[in-house]
Amino acid sequence: MSWEANVRKVVPYTPGEQPKEANIIKLNTNECPYPPAPEVRELLSSMKYENFRLYPDPCATKLIDAISDHYKVPCDQIFVGVGSDDVISMAFLTFFNSDKPILFPDITYSFYDVWADLYHIPYKRCPLDDNFRIVKEDYLEDNGGIIFPNPNAPTGVLEDVSMIEDIISHNPDSVVIIDEAYIDFGGKSVLPLIDKYDNLLVVQTFSKSRAMAGMRIGFAFGSKKLIKYLNDAKFSFNSYTMNMPSLELGAASVRDDEYFKKTCHMIMETRRRVKCELKSLGFSFPDSQANFIFAKHENVSGQSLFCALKAAGIYVRHWNAPRIEDYLRISIGTDEQMDRLIAFLKDYLK
Ligand SMILES: *Cc1c(COP(=O)(O)O)cnc(C)c1O
Repeated sequence: MSWEANVRKVVPYTPGEQPKEANIIKLNTNECPYPPAPEVRELLSSMKYENFRLYPDPCATKLIDAISDHYKVPCDQIFVGVGSDDVISMAFLTFFNSDKPILFPDITYSFYDVWADLYHIPYKRCPLDDNFRIVKEDYLEDNGGIIFPNPNAPTGVLEDVSMIEDIISHNPDSVVIIDEAYIDFGGKSVLPLIDKYDNLLVVQTFSKSRAMAGMRIGFAFGSKKLIKYLNDAKFSFNSYTMNMPSLELGAASVRDDEYFKKTCHMIMETRRRVKCELKSLGFSFPDSQANFIFAKHENVSGQSLFCALKAAGIYVRHWNAPRIEDYLRISIGTDEQMDRLIAFLKDYLK
């Protein structure tokens, strides 16, 4: 048993379930309910499988070029990875290397503490206020780095750019990572600030708004210096993180801006309607600017609702964690899926 004393032990992150049965309504992992852009399908059907014998481009040039064109950011200020999970994990490894604790909210993406544990990074959780808002002053204390999602997950709460800028400008000795996994659903990105602050890393993903979760594509924007350090760490870890289809299909997906805007708009419209329906059924929730709603019922517990929904084939996400055990995180699906959810709830709560 002696070797076990030296094992790097960690309690892993638990992703939302990917149920195998057909005919369920899957509202538990914030995937896009619509297919990827039509251009992705066209390119996929013309892809040359013979090329798969070759290694992919380690510099991900095609994908980075497409992102650069779309977001008007120079290529040397863009980093890509296998989903934003890979990008953020690489950023933790690269930038969070201090004895001081990194800071993130008590209610947030539950992968942050897992990466911190894995890399032995000290951390401190800063409690959100009673309305699930970030308390700015908490992030002005001495720290080894800062990360939070905006909009936050699983609450859906969006903070404004000026508050985030305040945090960045008061922390010139730390890297501040803003995880914008859900920014395309109505939020305002802090991306323009990367030219003003060389300690800001803005992370986004193709998994939610671009309907490409299965392709595993994430990206980040930052100063040249920040991106260089990220690449140095990445090329010391695994040169070929992103596979050939992801590089090509990701680029195709970014080029189809019209489809992207249309589907984001549809999701926001469905969200608006579902908020009204849930309210009239006795739910309350922070005003989500993401593709999910974090809702609690006035007299039924989170656990009971979660189980009843699951038994009816409707999967949502629930955490048995302090402050949020009565909430369900419900992803925005198609209108038809949401109608079935509402119909079930009406009947169940009667
Ligand atoms: C979904 C999500 C991610 C990770 O998404 P990838 O699929 O790895 O790109 C990162 N941060 C937050 C807050 C998320 O909700």
